[in-house]
Amino acid sequence: MSHGRKTLIDYHIHTRFSEDSLATPEECVADAAERGLGGVIFTEHLEFPPPPDWPEPAYHPGRVLDARAYQEAVSAVRDRWAGTLDVGLGAELGLEPHNLKALGPYLDTYDPGFDIVIGSLHSIRGVLVQLPEYTDPLGPQAASREYFGSLYAGVREAVRMRAFDVLGHLDLVKRSPTFGVFRAGDHRELLREILVTIIREGLGVEVNTSGYRQPPGEPYPGLETLRLFRELGGEIVTVGSDSHRAATVGQESARALDFIRAAGFRRLALFRARHPTFVPI
Ligand SMILES: [Zn+2]
Ligand SMILES: [Zn+2]
Repeated sequence: MSHGRKTLIDYHIHTRFSEDSLATPEECVADAAERGLGGVIFTEHLEFPPPPDWPEPAYHPGRVLDARAYQEAVSAVRDRWAGTLDVGLGAELGLEPHNLKALGPYLDTYDPGFDIVIGSLHSIRGVLVQLPEYTDPLGPQAASREYFGSLYAGVREAVRMRAFDVLGHLDLVKRSPTFGVFRAGDHRELLREILVTIIREGLGVEVNTSGYRQPPGEPYPGLETLRLFRELGGEIVTVGSDSHRAATVGQESARALDFIRAAGFRRLALFRARHPTFVPI
C-alpha cells in the first residue's frame, strides 16, 4: 500500500505561541513542505493558571494562549502556502480540572474557531506525569493507575462540554526515563473505559510519534492500546509529532501510518472546523 503525499500529515505542532517552543509557524510549514507533507495543524497549549492552593512545586503555564494573535499568524502562513500544503489552526487543551473550568469563559472572550482540539492530561497534583518525580515515588503500576484514573475523570468531564476531538498521547505516563516497560494489559479495564467513552461520543485517538524519539521508543499510545481502540469500534485516528521545533515536524509520520495499519485501521482522519473526514491509508 502506498502512502500518498496527502496522508503524510502532522496534527500536533507547537510554536512560539506555546511557552515551551521558540519555533515560528512559517519555519515549521517550510520544513513540512520540504519533507513532502500534505498538511499540518498547529496545536498550541491551551492551559490556565491552577488554583492558588495547589502544592508546590507545581507545574504552572506561564501565560495563556493569545488566541487572536495565534489565529492571525496561522492565517498568514495558510495563505502563503495555499495550493502547496494545508495549514490548520488547533489547540492542545489540558484535561486537568482547572483547565476545563476556565475553558468556557476563555472562549466566550474570543473563540478563534479551531480545526481540531487535542485533549491531553499532563500533570497530577501539579507534577508533570512524564517526570521521575511523579512515577518514582508511586512505582510504575500505581502511577499508571492514578494517571489513567485522572485521565478518565478528565475525559468524562470534557466530553460533557464537547471540549476536544482526539485524545492526545494517551499513555504518556510511560515517558519517564525511569518507568521501564509499560504493559497495557495491566490496565486494560481502565483503558477500555476511557476508549469506550471516546467512541460513544464519536471522538478519536491521536498517535503521537514523539514516543519514537523518547525513552519508550514507540508512539503514545502503544500498539496494544490502539488495537483495543479499533476492536471496541474506534474509527478516528490522527497522527502528530508533538514537535516543539521545526526539525521534528512530520518526523516518523510514514512509520506511524504503518503502525496505524498494523492496529487494523485503513483510514486516517483529517479535521477541518472540528469535523473529521477520512483518507485511505
Ligand atoms: Zn501534550
Ligand atoms: Zn503537545
